[in-house]
Amino acid sequence: MCTKHHCLIVPPHILEALAKQGNLACKRTLNDTQRIMQSRYRALNELLYRTYTETGGERSVYDCKNQYGQRLSLVRKEGGKQVPDRVVNAAYNASGFVRDYFRDTFQLNSMDDRGMPVISNVHYGVKYNNAYWDGDEMTYGDGDGEQFSNFAEAMDVVAHELTHGVTQFLANLEYQGQSGALNEHFSDVFATIIKQKHLNQSPSEADWLIGDTVVSKNFPGKAIRSLKDPGTANDYDVQPAHMDHYYTGSSDNQGVHINSGIPNRAFYLTAMAIGMEDVAKIWFESLRTLWRTASFPDMVEVALGVSERLSAGGSIQKNARDAVESSFNAVGLTPLTV
Ligand SMILES: [Zn+2]
Repeated sequence: MCTKHHCLIVPPHILEALAKQGNLACKRTLNDTQRIMQSRYRALNELLYRTYTETGGERSVYDCKNQYGQRLSLVRKEGGKQVPDRVVNAAYNASGFVRDYFRDTFQLNSMDDRGMPVISNVHYGVKYNNAYWDGDEMTYGDGDGEQFSNFAEAMDVVAHELTHGVTQFLANLEYQGQSGALNEHFSDVFATIIKQKHLNQSPSEADWLIGDTVVSKNFPGKAIRSLKDPGTANDYDVQPAHMDHYYTGSSDNQGVHINSGIPNRAFYLTAMAIGMEDVAKIWFESLRTLWRTASFPDMVEVALGVSERLSAGGSIQKNARDAVESSFNAVGLTPLTV
């Protein structure tokens, strides 16, 4: 669970690189992240022990009015009419699209499968260059207009962040090392699936980028990450695409946003081989099966077992297991039992 660290769409190593070049908005964003991280501990503990009122994942969108506080002013509730602020409507629509995808495809009742409310905060802070899920709600900055633009208007950003919520409740993948990179990986996977669905694109038509619509005119690249070609999305993109280039340093919680490039590329290869519908079933069922400290080889083993089981039951195509195996092999990954 992301109890100690926010699940941020823009990873710290990119914000740090921009801050070092004198970007004050990135510096402020980094500093503020630290402050919120500390203040959210109590809320997260309460979340773990709360008693639930079953709902259907009703949406609420709050306007932070460019202050550094959440749930300041409720501006749109589930079923409420459009409001003049297009960012509010964008957060409302995108969070509904993501919630409905998980419900319609996997019968998941909101992120926790118990109907937890889907809460979004927009216009957070001043020129805030990030978006994050912090355990029980979403928060989006407006961006500084130089490096980043508004985050709530990007379907892949919204889907990435809400999937952190799904992961938190299904697998609770610990946010460091390989389990943390898997946590990031699943968010990029479902961000991509949902983005392609929203744009009505096939895997071969899609750009496979994350955050291409939130990078702004001065950002040195076309997106935050690429699942197709990890390491090529921008000048600071250090994601490896193969285990040969695995990051072993301590930054970024031992590379959660860095080493996720390796399974991301395996997912891309599998999707190209068997199509998005079947690959989505395999990855979702794998997420259901994984556990807090799961490693990359655990993921391979689980995905192989799941694809065998699903194809034996006739819900996905017969060659799925072989496609999963050769895709992981192509990035240097094998199951533990080989
Ligand atoms: Zn993330």
